[in-house]
Amino acid sequence: MTGEGAPLRIGVFGGAFDPPHLGHTALAQIAISQLGLQRLVVIPTGHAWHKARPLTDAKHRLRMAELAFSPVPGTYVDPRETLRDGPSYTVDTLRELQAENPGAQLYLLIGEDQAQRLKTWHHWERLPALAIICVAARADSSGAYGRFDDLANDIPGLTVLQMPPMAVSATDIRQRVASGKSIAPLVFEPVARYIDQHLLYRSD
Ligand code: ATP
Repeated sequence: MTGEGAPLRIGVFGGAFDPPHLGHTALAQIAISQLGLQRLVVIPTGHAWHKARPLTDAKHRLRMAELAFSPVPGTYVDPRETLRDGPSYTVDTLRELQAENPGAQLYLLIGEDQAQRLKTWHHWERLPALAIICVAARADSSGAYGRFDDLANDIPGLTVLQMPPMAVSATDIRQRVASGKSIAPLVFEPVARYIDQHLLYRSD
């Protein structure tokens, strides 16, 4: 607790995590320290309706997320979205977490690319009532970074996480593995070992 009567601060960090990389763990660490989170729930997506390609089996993504986030204290991997039938929606997950943690303040953590698409999410207009939306800047391929003005007009209470740009993406990691390149500087070593042992991402 932050003090007498202060609400528990719980971060909620969803993603495909296919695979989880050092950009994800950096975002988690920055959110914990900048927002004073007591807990961070990492939620790998089930059927991610907004991702064009089929995702790697949830059992691998869950295990890799456990490995990737294990150095970040207070962080837990929650399988709930992978157990849902059909599409998984953030609005449902936040509602469930709120019901399970009465009085807690939820913080929804998202990277800039997802934030720019937020208005396409299922019932996105309900999200600000459920959680404080926190966006981490992320450089895109043109180098554009930290453009939140439009979003801030639409989302009351939008919070920006001060994160230096980290040019790492799961797409790049999958492509590197498929072409036999090293991913050593991009993922936590146990994740790289897991990918190797389970022959993941061998074909793009
Ligand atoms: P892909 O390349 O397959 O689209 P990704 O690297 O974007 O994957 P996700 O699992 O889709 O990884 O990301 C989960 C969340 O983390 C998203 O909100 C995304 O914006 C954010 N994120 C991922 N990488 C970074 C990064 N380098 N900097 C800031 N945010 C990031």
